[in-house]
Amino acid sequence: RAAFRYCGRFAPSPTGPLHFGSLIAAVGSYLDARHHAGLWRLRIEDVDQPRCQAGASDDILRLLEAYGFEWDGEVIYQSRRTADYRAAFERLRAAGQVFPCACTRSELADSRIDRPESESESEPELASARLANDGARVYPGTCRDGLPAGRVPRAWRLRVGDARIHFADAVQGRIEQDLARDAGDFILLRADGLFAYQLAVVVDDAEQGISHVVRGADLLDSTPRQMLLQRLLNLPTPQYAHLPLAIDAGGEKLSKQTRARPLMRSQARPALFAALQFLGQAPSPDLRDASLGELWQWAIGHWSLSGVPRRNRLAADLPEAYS
Ligand code: GLU
Repeated sequence: RAAFRYCGRFAPSPTGPLHFGSLIAAVGSYLDARHHAGLWRLRIEDVDQPRCQAGASDDILRLLEAYGFEWDGEVIYQSRRTADYRAAFERLRAAGQVFPCACTRSELADSRIDRPESESESEPELASARLANDGARVYPGTCRDGLPAGRVPRAWRLRVGDARIHFADAVQGRIEQDLARDAGDFILLRADGLFAYQLAVVVDDAEQGISHVVRGADLLDSTPRQMLLQRLLNLPTPQYAHLPLAIDAGGEKLSKQTRARPLMRSQARPALFAALQFLGQAPSPDLRDASLGELWQWAIGHWSLSGVPRRNRLAADLPEAYS
């Protein structure tokens, strides 16, 4: 029996420079992997070509190097993996699990069925993290039983049926989702011919042998869809840990859209120190003067997922340079 080997990953989308929010996912996934003597792989998620920015991937790799991250194996680029996505898609198609959909964006907007509001007032951060996903719109099922007469297929969707998915997230605890109600039949192959993130990420996590996914809580809501795809494609399900997000006063996560400041290559030590604080690792103040190598050594040795807070945190509480 093959020895189990922890394998983690960081999977940035090259839609712009890395900011403090992306650093949290990089640091959390890296430390959890290295603390468990595991591998840590890198994947550039450039499947959504229209949203990618020229030069961003190289900038991300150079920034990670300057911050002292060391990844295992080759960097994978989603833009070069279309054949694998197609193969997975064809398996689902052969099994009757996908269907063509003719609906345009504006037609769907007209028939808008919003997801139910989160009833839990006490968890505004989590609620906003959920809404951050996929436009938060549930497909009304228009083309599920066949295309309306005279219409041509645009996109292909997965039949989610009555799947209920639950899992134990290492940070967020028990998560449960009724896919029909909360996600709906979601797109796997887009009208522009590109495969959707949900399919790409599932195929790639399996291809890279990922055993543990540590990433931002904005993707918590995507995880049940990914788990359903893993089940249908007969792929293993990794363990998941969703890290708190750095959010602004309006509950939005730091992102390019909210003009989060890009990380600077020259600021590795203070940025990493701030990331450790954010992740509840309580680095002692004298580590501020430590070298990059010493800082990493301390962080890997002392990493504790149970120290990571569940709730999102205001970016305003971060050191000035990172919000
Ligand atoms: N590419 C995604 C992002 O940058 C992350 C996907 C993932 O970690 O599964 O937000």
